[in-house]
Amino acid sequence: MTAKTTVKPTARLIEVFSAIQGEGLNVGTRQIFIRFALCDLRCHFCDSAHTWNAPATCKVERSPGLRDFEIHSNPVPLPILIEWVQRQNLPCLHDSISLTGGEPLLHVPFLKEFLPQVRSLTNLPVYLETGGHRPEQLATIVPYLDSVGMDLKLPSVSGESHWQEHAKFLQLCFESHLDIFVKIIISQNTDPAELQRSALLVADVSPDIPIFLQPVTPLPPSAQFTPTPVLAPTPEQVLMWQALMKKFVPHVRVIPQTHKMLNQL
Ligand code: SF4
Repeated sequence: MTAKTTVKPTARLIEVFSAIQGEGLNVGTRQIFIRFALCDLRCHFCDSAHTWNAPATCKVERSPGLRDFEIHSNPVPLPILIEWVQRQNLPCLHDSISLTGGEPLLHVPFLKEFLPQVRSLTNLPVYLETGGHRPEQLATIVPYLDSVGMDLKLPSVSGESHWQEHAKFLQLCFESHLDIFVKIIISQNTDPAELQRSALLVADVSPDIPIFLQPVTPLPPSAQFTPTPVLAPTPEQVLMWQALMKKFVPHVRVIPQTHKMLNQL
């Protein structure tokens, strides 16, 4: 008889810290960020290319918001991550826990174990930031989530195309009664036909889902990995595209990345 071995869940992380959320529906709220390593997409505007591979170490803030990082090795055992989150969780400080990356849904075996525990220990709602292209993985952790910010990747801007997956993903969020919003990065190259298609996709699930158009934050030349730089849209383009989408869905807001203005992480 062979001995049964149990695999202890571990996470491959980039960093854990406390900061002010700068995007979408939760803008301005205080969150404990857990940034997971690995991403299977390659968006042209990615400002987190350092997350694409799992590094040997991760950074963990000792005191919330003080940027007094400690370095620890990857992967991180589940009880240790719980301890780090608890250390961040000072009374009355945080609104929620943000699972970000990279793509957090590449870590569902870990999240299935971690989320029920961290939720009951901290009493904080759990918010998922995702590329919105992995509905099967979402289905396995949906009971442990409270809200989701789903990226809808426009091929003309991101270089990625996942229309069917986005539709399935959004439908599942909606049927699971999660707080949802859709984020769309726009640049000077945005194809308005793709914006119209996105608005229809959202309206088909529910016209009440808010859409956030986020003008791209241009990357510094050293961080660019496409031959032509991805440029922010002009003011005229932004006005025109918001008006276009509002013909199909009522809630279309334009908000750039505010955490960059506040010098947050
Ligand atoms: S999904 Fe996010 S982390 Fe992945 S490549 Fe796109 S922007 Fe970067």
